[in-house]
Amino acid sequence: MPTASSAQGEQLPRSASERRDALKQVLAQARSCTRCPELAATRKSVVFGAGNADAELMFVGEAPGASEDEQGLPFVGRAGQLLNTLLEEIGLTRENVFVCNTLKCRPPGNRDPQPIELANCQEYLLRQVELIEPAVICTLGNFSTKLLRGDPTGITRLHGQPEVIVLGARAVRLYPIYHPAAALYTPRMLETLREDFQRLPELLALGAPEQPSIEELPQPAAELVPEEIDSQTAAQEHAQVDQLGLF
Ligand code: URA
Repeated sequence: MPTASSAQGEQLPRSASERRDALKQVLAQARSCTRCPELAATRKSVVFGAGNADAELMFVGEAPGASEDEQGLPFVGRAGQLLNTLLEEIGLTRENVFVCNTLKCRPPGNRDPQPIELANCQEYLLRQVELIEPAVICTLGNFSTKLLRGDPTGITRLHGQPEVIVLGARAVRLYPIYHPAAALYTPRMLETLREDFQRLPELLALGAPEQPSIEELPQPAAELVPEEIDSQTAAQEHAQVDQLGLF
C-alpha cells in the first residue's frame, strides 16, 4: 500500500486518487514555473507529462520538441509514434503508462537541455516519481539516464541493463534504453531498442523493488517554491487537466 509520512513521521496509506490529486497540484505549480527565464519566455506550453497517474511503467525522455510544445503533450511527434508502436508490440498503450521528460519546457530551437535547466526542473520529475510510484522507469536516451543515475555513463554502455535505484523516497527499477528519436534514422539502433523493449514485460512482472525504510531515506527534497495559487486559479488548472485528459 502506498504511504505518506504524517507530521509525526509515521506512515499513512495514500490512495491512487489522493496521489493523482497531489500530482495535479504539482502540475499547477509547473504551469506557472519561471525558474528558467529563457524557457518560460519562449514556451507555448508546459509539457508536464501524460498517461496513467498510477502507472507501473514510466518513461522519461529529454525535453519537449515543437509539436509537444504546441499540443502540451509529450511524445506526439515521430518519436512518439515509434514509442506507441513499440508499446503496442508488448501489448501496452499510452493509457497504461506515464510519459514525461527531464525538462517540462521546450528548449528554443530544440537545443540540448542545459545543466542549470535540468537542475531547476529535476524536482518536478522527482515529485512525479514519488506520486505515481512506478515500479519501472525507462529512461530514453542520455539526458534522462545520466540525470536519474547521477552519473555521466552514457546510454551506449547502459542500455538494456536494469538496476534498482532510489529516487526521492522511492526505489524503482531503472531501465535505460535508446531514445526513439535516435533510433528513427539508424536501423541497427532501432533493432536494439526493439530488443530492449521486448524485455520490459519480464521486468514489470518483477513488480516494484523493496522500498527503503524511513531511516534509510535521505533528507526529504525541498518543497517546491510555494506559489500563490488562489482557489479560482487552481480550479481552472484542474479543469484544464481534465479537458486535456492528461492523467
Ligand atoms: N523527444 C523527447 O525527448 N521528448 C518529447 O516529448 C518528444 C521528443
